[in-house]
Amino acid sequence: MESIQHHAATSSDERDIRAARNQAMFRAVNDKIHEVNESFAVLTDTFSIACECANPRCVEIIEIAPSEYEAIRANPRRFAVLPGHEDKTLEHVVAEADGYVVAEKEGKAAETAAALAPPEGDDGG
Ligand SMILES: [Zn+2]
Repeated sequence: MESIQHHAATSSDERDIRAARNQAMFRAVNDKIHEVNESFAVLTDTFSIACECANPRCVEIIEIAPSEYEAIRANPRRFAVLPGHEDKTLEHVVAEADGYVVAEKEGKAAETAAALAPPEGDDGG
């Protein structure tokens, strides 16, 4: 019964390699999703995000309510930054909250931010 011929062994190998790559990729993605889910589950009131200011060296953490963060992310021009981390040449503060401010990009910076934002899905809004 074991008479199936693998005359294309190399393509089989290729498929295995591709599958392994895909699995590794999905596992990495899933790990991230699990991390995020756990964060949300544990921190019901707030969760921690990296300060989104223009300074690439800034590694400060902001505590923010998930719903507030979603509201900021809904506008591609808006970013949550620590008070004082806003760059007044690029953006202006549109809201101040406990522990962070909402900075809205202006001019070219706003265009760039909007262009880099992922396209809106069709999940309503
Ligand atoms: Zn910062």
